[in-house]
Amino acid sequence: MEKVTKPRYAKSGDEAIFHQLRQDVSNLVQQLEPQRRGSIMLKAVLFPALYFLVYIAILAFGSQRSIFFTGYFLLGVLLVMIFLNIIHDAVHGTIFHSKKLNQWYVYLFDLMGANSYVWRQRHIRFHHNYPNVNGWDTDIEQSKLARIFPTGKTLRIHRYQHIYLPVLYPLYLFNWLLVRDFKDFFNKKKTIWKLVTIPSVEYVKLFAFKAVFLFYLIVLPKLALPVSWLQVITGFALMLLTASVFSLMVLLSPHANTSSEFPLPDGNNSLPHNWMMHMLYTTNDVSNDSWFIRFFMGCFNYHVAHHLFPNVNHIYYPEVTGLLKKYAEKYDLPYRQYSLRVSLGKHYRLLKENGVTDDIFEETM
Ligand SMILES: [Zn+2]
Repeated sequence: MEKVTKPRYAKSGDEAIFHQLRQDVSNLVQQLEPQRRGSIMLKAVLFPALYFLVYIAILAFGSQRSIFFTGYFLLGVLLVMIFLNIIHDAVHGTIFHSKKLNQWYVYLFDLMGANSYVWRQRHIRFHHNYPNVNGWDTDIEQSKLARIFPTGKTLRIHRYQHIYLPVLYPLYLFNWLLVRDFKDFFNKKKTIWKLVTIPSVEYVKLFAFKAVFLFYLIVLPKLALPVSWLQVITGFALMLLTASVFSLMVLLSPHANTSSEFPLPDGNNSLPHNWMMHMLYTTNDVSNDSWFIRFFMGCFNYHVAHHLFPNVNHIYYPEVTGLLKKYAEKYDLPYRQYSLRVSLGKHYRLLKENGVTDDIFEETM
């Protein structure tokens, strides 16, 4: 694909507010760092160790069916926990001070089935730079069957998307790990090719890691245990199904809903808001909060703080959000927060609204 010029953000007087906020956040993080470093390290060691232990337990005791399936279910839960607490922070370079160590941790994602090279491009270069911008936000752009952007391409089938998408959502990770990664590598019309040319070595890594993933989760348990192929594949499917449902609660709630804007660049390739306002208009927080969400789910509910400060580890987001709320009040910023139930409801409404096509010609035929 021919490389394309990136959209620009509008300039406005509000930039000074963000500079001030950034300074306050930086001071806050410096102040909290000595007491929080331990939790960051604890998660970085504990969660991968748990994943490994559960896997070993499957190999050792999986001849008992209940242990076998519980093991795969737990691997699905741990996959999401490791993603939210470790891999996502590592790709933003916020776990270790060393760039190399963060990079090594991102390879955990490859071991758990997702290609980290394309995901890094999709997440950092496209999603974080242009959330909710049609043609640029690759995290939202999933499949032709879903019309999430109000300006997205219309298909007749979209009028039923609010019915079939919730049924297809549990297959989310099957598509990501087994189909979409390959499409991004081999179909040069895919969005990431607008800015990226994938180096040859990444093709080798793609196949090598996918083979390792399928080998240790399907082939090795079959060889080590007196179980059928059907049982191993069912276990594997249970793991991906669990991880899909668990991760979608987190991934669908902060951007893709009826209260978010979906801004588009104008004829001069300029977006309507400045960078900070764009993040606020396209991202919302989830008000459900607890020790469990903070420790096990990577503070995903504090998503606005993540978009404004992606270089800050999630462990600081509750306090960063406290500052952000004060700024929002003082400067009348469009900071938004909904409960998980409300934001998923708004997502459902978005599917319904975007399924209504105003193709008059088609309707009168
Ligand atoms: Zn991110």
